[in-house]
Amino acid sequence: MYRTHTCGELRISDVNKQVTLSGWVQRVRNLGGMTFIDLRDRYGITQLVLNTETQPDLSRTARELGREFVIQVVGSVAERSSKNSKIPTGDVEIILDKLNILNKSAVPPFTIEDDTDGGDELRMKYRYLDLRRNPVRRNLELRHQMGIVIRNYLNEKGFLDIETPVLIKSTPEGARDFVVPSRVHAGQFYALPQSPQVFKQLLMVAGYDRYFQIVKCFRDEDLRADRQPEFTQIDCEMAFVEQENILNTFEGLTKHMFKTIRGVEIEGDFPRMSYADAMELYGSDKPDIRFGMKFIELTDAVKGKGFKVFDDAEYVGGICAEGCAAYSRKDIDALTDFVKRPQIGAQGLIYVKYNTDGTLKSSVDKFFDEAELKRWAERMGAKEGDMLLILAGVKTKTQNALCELRLEMGNRLGLRDKNVFAPLWVVDFPLLEWDADTKRFYAMHHPFTSPLKADVALLDSDPGKVRANAYDLVINGVELGGGSIRIHDDVLQRRMFEVLGFTDEEAQAQFGFLMNAFRYGAPPHGGIAFGFDRLVSLFAGVDSIRDVIAFPKNNAARDVMIDSPSPIHLNQLEELSIRLDVKNNPQ
Ligand code: ASP
Repeated sequence: MYRTHTCGELRISDVNKQVTLSGWVQRVRNLGGMTFIDLRDRYGITQLVLNTETQPDLSRTARELGREFVIQVVGSVAERSSKNSKIPTGDVEIILDKLNILNKSAVPPFTIEDDTDGGDELRMKYRYLDLRRNPVRRNLELRHQMGIVIRNYLNEKGFLDIETPVLIKSTPEGARDFVVPSRVHAGQFYALPQSPQVFKQLLMVAGYDRYFQIVKCFRDEDLRADRQPEFTQIDCEMAFVEQENILNTFEGLTKHMFKTIRGVEIEGDFPRMSYADAMELYGSDKPDIRFGMKFIELTDAVKGKGFKVFDDAEYVGGICAEGCAAYSRKDIDALTDFVKRPQIGAQGLIYVKYNTDGTLKSSVDKFFDEAELKRWAERMGAKEGDMLLILAGVKTKTQNALCELRLEMGNRLGLRDKNVFAPLWVVDFPLLEWDADTKRFYAMHHPFTSPLKADVALLDSDPGKVRANAYDLVINGVELGGGSIRIHDDVLQRRMFEVLGFTDEEAQAQFGFLMNAFRYGAPPHGGIAFGFDRLVSLFAGVDSIRDVIAFPKNNAARDVMIDSPSPIHLNQLEELSIRLDVKNNPQ
């Protein structure tokens, strides 16, 4: 038997027990004739002790030990004279009788400690060592726990977990597909699912009116901290439902998760905000509503005073930063540099300080007198001690920049506490997005999303104005989930494809199976998918979804541990009837 207990298990009540433990050597210390070994496994650390003088054989073996050696020990549990209150096993130690090396270890390239000396790339290359570290292990345990809670909850609500295929035909979800060549059908390709979207809709047609799956999805997109080429969704679909039913069901799931996993009770209904309001008030379709600082538009109030920046602007708007009138020149310069960064792209930043003595001071004093500044301050709800931060320019771009500035101020003022959770439903998204380059509409969500009933007629007259029956769940500025009520009749679905610029033949070739299925009694249905990785990272309080994925890719979409992607053998290519452009073939 390799072990009778784990390394996290023994307590003072176990004193005098004879035990066998197995695990990894965290460290070895020699102190005044005694050798101490910290033995680690997934459950914790237990201190082992042997007497260098009276136990020469054991001592000889102990001298061979290095970090991460795998050992098995037999000994008796004893009360420690100097206790360590920081670890649950800190009251006891094991007085060794036997020490057996099960396996040696090369010197690990970084220390297996909470604060390791390994950089990101090194940790990823040796991810199996990184996974031994507590912070990473805790994230994976949390992920497991959340998976169980979600499954149990949905199971209790009558949802069936049904697997859908991974080798499919391309489904449009707005990203590029990963494709897999078929050997049997030379020249033809499968696509990896961007999501199980069409399958879950077909399951509704098939009568499985509550479906869910915790499922891998694949999207060939440029990566960011919260994106991976393969990621996991909690994918759900329901039949005979309206938007209200879906929002209630998944609000319930979200609250249940917060309660069981984080012990956080979220009171009341999640607020809802239209997409239009989210853009107008926060410049984002995923506003962080942990704090206010909503945008106030000033465009009409500031024109005609000879200040060219405002006179030429399509939009002038600002935020009121509470208690910031005392900001120094240096602070304001830093904020100005921030908004002028190329990725934010503002031309400059205008400030108005509403000083505690009631005076107002701005960077545009030349053009606007104090009475004027006071009017802005009133309009923006500022009080003495506050500062207005104002941007001007082309509308969307300026609102985007103001959004970044608002978040930055939220950070500076400590308003984005990781332990505060502010959920929000964003609803009434536009159905379509106009793309000026290709001069056509694209589905903002996906082409199966239903328009709002009230807006269907606009599909013919003004498609850009049609609102979708779609919703996103946003928590703390992160889009955690999104879904929609679907189109369930073939005529409307065909009309939608037409608006999206598909010819009848193209629509038939790509989605014939779906429209065909809709001819056989498709029930009204809708669904949602949550980004599981993002949800776990929110609960874990980490910034990158990589921290909650056992084997993630780096931000160049590479798995540096197994070295993938990698060239394949010419024989494999031949079997697939694929000839590569020589330049791109490293073989
Ligand atoms: N398939 C959609 C997505 O992955 C979610 C949904 O509409 O249910 O975003």
